[in-house]
Amino acid sequence: MHKILFASSEAYPLIKTGGLADVSASLPAALTALGNQVRVLVPGYPQALDVIKKSFGRRRIAQLTIGTTAVTLWQTPVKNADITFWVAECSAFSTRSGNPYTDENDRDWSDNAERFHLFCELTRRLALGDVGLRWQPDVVHCNDWPTALAPALLHGHSNRPATVFTIHNLAYQGLFPAETRHELGLPETFWHMHSLEFYGQLSFIKGGLIYADRLTTVSPSYAGEIRTEQHGCGLDGVLRDRGEHLSGILNGVHQADWDPETDPHLPANYHADDLRNKARCKQNLVRELRLDVGREEQPLVGFIGRLVEQKGIDLIVEILPWLIAQGCRVALLGSGTPELEQRLDALARQHPGQVSLTLTYDEALAHRITAGVDLFMMPSRFEPCGLNQMYSLLYGTPPVVHSIGGLKDTVFDADEFPMDQANGFSFNEPTPESFLQALRRALNLYQDPAHWQRLQVNGMKVDYSWQHSARAYMDVYDSALEQRTAP
Ligand code: ADP
Repeated sequence: MHKILFASSEAYPLIKTGGLADVSASLPAALTALGNQVRVLVPGYPQALDVIKKSFGRRRIAQLTIGTTAVTLWQTPVKNADITFWVAECSAFSTRSGNPYTDENDRDWSDNAERFHLFCELTRRLALGDVGLRWQPDVVHCNDWPTALAPALLHGHSNRPATVFTIHNLAYQGLFPAETRHELGLPETFWHMHSLEFYGQLSFIKGGLIYADRLTTVSPSYAGEIRTEQHGCGLDGVLRDRGEHLSGILNGVHQADWDPETDPHLPANYHADDLRNKARCKQNLVRELRLDVGREEQPLVGFIGRLVEQKGIDLIVEILPWLIAQGCRVALLGSGTPELEQRLDALARQHPGQVSLTLTYDEALAHRITAGVDLFMMPSRFEPCGLNQMYSLLYGTPPVVHSIGGLKDTVFDADEFPMDQANGFSFNEPTPESFLQALRRALNLYQDPAHWQRLQVNGMKVDYSWQHSARAYMDVYDSALEQRTAP
């Protein structure tokens, strides 16, 4: 049993921009179920404060000042979900709605360094038991760059907990101009290439990569890939150096939220032994999105995700005309960079009955698309783990994926794997040609209902729960505690 302070810049259902939020709720819940005591520390964005006030109730447990900023810490138990959130209300976070990291033009907020440094300093104080709560964790688990300075700030404290840092996406590093270190009041001892300096810039993520006792990332394949120059985002050397402390643990799925048998967002529920209601979900979705009716001989194809380069949206733009020419209908949901949004929007406008594009964040629609489409596209150029392919597998919607990172670890190609294992389609090169070849194979197999159903059921029957991975994290916590070095 461990006492774990789990620090994250987003956690479902308080605030979510991507998979990090799902993991920051579902992993702590699984750890709690295994007997650990977990506190999930999240910044008090207006949306998060709203949710806890309206839905869960809250209790003020601490008030403190960091620099000149007053911080109020709220405790919120989420009923039936085995999670206790600690939500930090302070001016740096609580006065600004919208995306936590970027403004409405998709530019980083200019004070991100100050805001997330403050969050890391709060993490440090809570980790050291300095806040008068009579609760000190034995493990601090930090996630991605917004929390990565905490292990650095804790370094050298004799009474510090063990520190674990998880890389959910190495491409986001929290890089700031060199002078920022003075503005944040960081010690000069951090200013060298074996510490927080990264080619003349201040790197938040290096705080985690260098100072945490143990490192993890979210799939075994990605753990290998980030040690290579091609996928290491300039940090492969650091990660090779720390190779023996780095492990890849596949994310799980919070199956209470993502189960087609009980999902309240669906017009009809279904399970692997009886897929008839999946067809009703499809009919409803077609109507809801005002797509053409009929065309059943070709699959309805879906995509959900952030519209950013990482997700291979340019590849989707390239192959869409071909899918349209085949008579497929396509349901797209996402938001992201203006340029990619516009390219998709142009195609959707040209083919209103065949392509539906919803440019927003819509949790309920994400569930209905996952259930209602026949085939899910995920051509990510890189993918640390990816949750959407697992959701679609669980919903009997075979995915077509670029074979990389977590996609490689979860999707098994129909032509390469035995009939009792295959669950989707994959391609090796992130090019329109290889994506299109995989789609062509999928469209062909769709014509063979018995074989297709086999693929669906294989995906639906795999155990993607957190059980196994949460235990793997507990092993990491044990070894981090052993590793914790004397100051
Ligand atoms: P990433 O963390 O890189 O964004 P993941 O596949 O790990 O990718 O997780 C994405 C999560 O965000 C999934 O839960 C997905 O359903 C959700 N998501 C992304 N964009 C949207 C959107 N526009 N509407 C609803 N859910 C979305």
